[in-house]
Amino acid sequence: MARTEWNHVPDNLPLAVNPLFYWPPNPKAVVVWYWSAWFPISINLAIVALAYAAYTWTAPTLGEATTPGLWMLEILIRNLLIVTILAQGLHILFHSSQLQGPDHKYDPRPFPRQGRVFTFNNQFWDNVFWALASGVTIWSAYECLIWFSMANGYASVWLWSDGWVWFLAVFLLIPVWESFYFYWIHRLLHTNNLYRFHALHHRNTDIGPWSGLSMHPIEHLFYFGTALIHFVVPTHPVHMICHLMFYGLYAITTHTGFEGIWVSGRKRLQLGMFHHQMHHRYFEVNYGSLDVPWDKFFGTFHDGTPAGKAMMKERLKTRKRN
Ligand SMILES: [Zn+2]
Ligand SMILES: [Zn+2]
Repeated sequence: MARTEWNHVPDNLPLAVNPLFYWPPNPKAVVVWYWSAWFPISINLAIVALAYAAYTWTAPTLGEATTPGLWMLEILIRNLLIVTILAQGLHILFHSSQLQGPDHKYDPRPFPRQGRVFTFNNQFWDNVFWALASGVTIWSAYECLIWFSMANGYASVWLWSDGWVWFLAVFLLIPVWESFYFYWIHRLLHTNNLYRFHALHHRNTDIGPWSGLSMHPIEHLFYFGTALIHFVVPTHPVHMICHLMFYGLYAITTHTGFEGIWVSGRKRLQLGMFHHQMHHRYFEVNYGSLDVPWDKFFGTFHDGTPAGKAMMKERLKTRKRN
């Protein structure tokens, strides 16, 4: 019996991109888009809160960070714990205990899988290994590097007292920068020379929370390299922690394979991105996110409808001919 292509698709297909880019302008839709990205409860807000907690309890002071020391180990252990608790918690919720059942899981195939394509012949352990051994290590190394650089004046620090408007704006700009940086890094990783590194992430044609950070070390260097912007733009250490967490933790929450958390018949928290789920299925579409519609600008968008799929097929046909 033929299996349907998707077990679940979002209600609001075709996928909508940020209305900031609509013509004619629709200010109300823009306000609703940004408001719902943050309030009343969102991953964005949770990451800012977690970044503050990490900064308060598990980070050095700028004075301590002037010389390498045990604070580096503290950062590594904190990041290991956060990733493990979040990814394993979501894995138990959705996959190993299936507390929500199969409803709202995008891909109909069972997850996780066995197979020679995976390290240890097992998708789950493959994903855990690459996420922790490579992902958290490289993330923490960048964090230590920037702490050290801010402490020694190689990267400039912006305090609340230097201006609160910029201080607050940086938090809002992180997702905007992410949309830009991630699209281009990701497209670069799909070029002939670099795809061999990105292929490790694409072993996962269906995904779970641990798949999000499952990447080759070279890809992690590119991915978390987003933090190098702190050498150029004056920011506070809490911004840098938040920025790295945004990359590290969003990768986990957007790769659950499920649309979100449902309680008593209502969606309470948006998690998965159907947009990126399609990237894992079809590879050559939807490199970015919906916040800045790079995929629309460059013709790599699949909006989740049959028309979107037909467009993708047509594009890939002409590409092969060239
Ligand atoms: Zn992915
Ligand atoms: Zn990719």
